[in-house]
Amino acid sequence: MIYADNAATTKISDAAFEKMLPFLREQYGNASSQYSFGVQAKRAVARARQQAAQAIGAEPIEITFTSGGSEGNSWVLQSVTALWRGEPVHIITSSIEHHSVLNVCRALEKRGIAVSYLPVDSNGRVSVHDVERALRPDTRLVSIMLANNEIGTIQPLDEIGCLLRGRGILVHTDAVQAAGHIPVKVKDLPVDFLTASAHKFNGAKGSGFIYTRSGLELPQLIFGGGQEFGKRPGTENVAGIVALGYALEESVSNMADERERAASLIRTTTDGLKAAIPGIRINAGNAERLPGILNVMLPHASGEAMTHLLDLKGICVSTGSACNSGKDEASHVLLALGLSGREAQSSIRISYGRYNTLQEANEMVTAICNAYDKIAGVNPWRKSAGSL
Ligand SMILES: *Cc1c(COP(=O)(O)O)cnc(C)c1O
Repeated sequence: MIYADNAATTKISDAAFEKMLPFLREQYGNASSQYSFGVQAKRAVARARQQAAQAIGAEPIEITFTSGGSEGNSWVLQSVTALWRGEPVHIITSSIEHHSVLNVCRALEKRGIAVSYLPVDSNGRVSVHDVERALRPDTRLVSIMLANNEIGTIQPLDEIGCLLRGRGILVHTDAVQAAGHIPVKVKDLPVDFLTASAHKFNGAKGSGFIYTRSGLELPQLIFGGGQEFGKRPGTENVAGIVALGYALEESVSNMADERERAASLIRTTTDGLKAAIPGIRINAGNAERLPGILNVMLPHASGEAMTHLLDLKGICVSTGSACNSGKDEASHVLLALGLSGREAQSSIRISYGRYNTLQEANEMVTAICNAYDKIAGVNPWRKSAGSL
């Protein structure tokens, strides 16, 4: 099998897995219990908080563990707007956010909150001028993702931050795809809130965290006991949290090498496909992008059919985001880039991660060319995959 859908989820790292296991079997105490069996779990959570904080240059108190990216995004967007209950609230976001941001925004609109969904250019970038034009006296929050999950585009958050400085507008970023893959340091980012999720950086599914700049108080979304300083009650997912800490620490320490390695896999794949398939286009091809994500438009081929044929060969790639798969809709991200519905539906996303090899990248090229031959093989202008 070649697993090349790391933007959907990643395999847990061996180190993170080994570290989490004892907390499922031997040290299964409740981190809130007073006896030492519980205190061991509490210490493990504290250690993970330190690891997560250090990885993004934050203080441990600024880290709150959650169940993942969707909870983090929902929490920040819903709770921030609750701070201004009774007053008009306007949010600025982008049209290419993950559905865990977009769908909260739609729900908030039903509650009377105004939302501007900014367009992006053909490389998926939000323009600072558009942010400026969208500002209103009642703008309370700007939520722009750090890096996109379908095309990999990295947003100019620092420029947006410069624009917003001193205006009293809170800034949130969905850094789920960025954390562990590109440098994410809250000192350099103009953000008050940041969302991350462990299963996107070789941790376990079902755990994540939000960063809240110290001095800010985010109203709770979940009520219960005193866990997570009373901010996010519920018995801690100790094993998941432990895995998160080690996985993020590991990802950050290997980041420079991994970026280079992923870049070479992407280069091999891109060059191979470009040489064999005329008319192929790299979506957001000129953007500054995440190291492992490649979104390609294969002319006249159905992305859906491509992923099925590749699946038969044991290759996992996707059409757009995992949350959308199964729906027969063109990706909102690709449409926002200016692709037609047809072009969007002719696109596939390859996302490499830590466990992919150069050999797999070469096999990927051959497999895509073969699948493309079957689907679009009627095209006489197409060079055969055999010429590779
Ligand atoms: C995966 C993802 C999410 C959702 O995270 P979960 O932990 O799966 O809920 C949010 N935003 C982006 C950009 C993602 O890629």
